[in-house]
Amino acid sequence: MTKLRGNVSMLEGSGGNIAALTGRDGKLLVDAGITASRPRITEALASLSNDPVKHLINSHWHFDHTDGNEWLHSVGAEITAHENTRKHLSVTTRVEDWNFTFPPAPSGALPTKLFDSEQTLHLNGSTIALKMYSPAHTDSDISVEFTDADIVHVADTFWNGHFPFIDYSTGGSIDGMIRAAETNVAKVTDKTIVIPGHGPIGNKSQLTEFRDMLVSVREKVADLKNQGKSLDEVVRLTDLRVAFSVADLAFEADLPASIFHLQLITNDISDWKAKAQVITVFHTNAGHVTLNDDSYNAERKMATGNPYKKLLAELMKRGVQVELCGATAAVHNWGNEDLLPGIKVNTDAMARMSQLVQEGFVQITEWD
Ligand SMILES: [Zn+2]
Repeated sequence: MTKLRGNVSMLEGSGGNIAALTGRDGKLLVDAGITASRPRITEALASLSNDPVKHLINSHWHFDHTDGNEWLHSVGAEITAHENTRKHLSVTTRVEDWNFTFPPAPSGALPTKLFDSEQTLHLNGSTIALKMYSPAHTDSDISVEFTDADIVHVADTFWNGHFPFIDYSTGGSIDGMIRAAETNVAKVTDKTIVIPGHGPIGNKSQLTEFRDMLVSVREKVADLKNQGKSLDEVVRLTDLRVAFSVADLAFEADLPASIFHLQLITNDISDWKAKAQVITVFHTNAGHVTLNDDSYNAERKMATGNPYKKLLAELMKRGVQVELCGATAAVHNWGNEDLLPGIKVNTDAMARMSQLVQEGFVQITEWD
């Protein structure tokens, strides 16, 4: 839990970023995270104040922002969202790029206070301005601005340090993402604190970089199109080299967010039949993910074995190269014999990442 400014804090690592506003009217949260992290969210919120949670705003309909709706509603939160968030949560919804079909959410999880274009709330001595984006990441994205503290949660229109996921199945598009990025850049000043949907707290210059990155990706695709390649080919042509640096399994649960991101990008690659290389380096507080059952049990003082081994085996089967940082291995006295089959110890993570970046890899950093 990071205190930002005024009575606004941010909690990272349970699905999307969660913002919390404390005060007499009860806590207001922006986004609900995933249900598996309920105990840690409860603990983090209790560390802020004793106010009960009374208000929850969903930044958009995706499960990593709304999965916790039901339990938060059960402890007294009234849920506010754009009407399309309720629409998608109410029915069976397929997201092609996740290769996943979401069943309708239970009735307690559905937002009951809906709006269309904008709405202003006055709670805890603060003005909270909600505003919908035209379809960008989905067709249900909204920004939530804490006007007095000059803090804005921009939903998944901004992934700080990540290439964004765009949900074409429920209204998202690259052009919409660029429009939303323009809106964000125009809306904030150098002093504004920007809470991205994913990644660390950002500012105006990072929003600007993100917008420029999206524009250049779109231009690349447009160039290829002009050379007469079909859209299908354009996407498939992507020569993707991605290096994941994973230092921490924040909110370690059934599916830590970093491994989920790894799955997403691997899914994209196989869907596009892209020529791609994905290398993941686990280090620091995430090193134990690479251990075999015996060493995992010894390290974590558990008897369950390594719960991540199936996920990793599946990813490796699909071509992801998994490595453990040599410095992390040395600290724990781990050797290759302690690791899951197919995983190797490399030089230390920082040196390895610099080397991969020099070789043209895009670096994606998960919590370090
Ligand atoms: Zn999302």
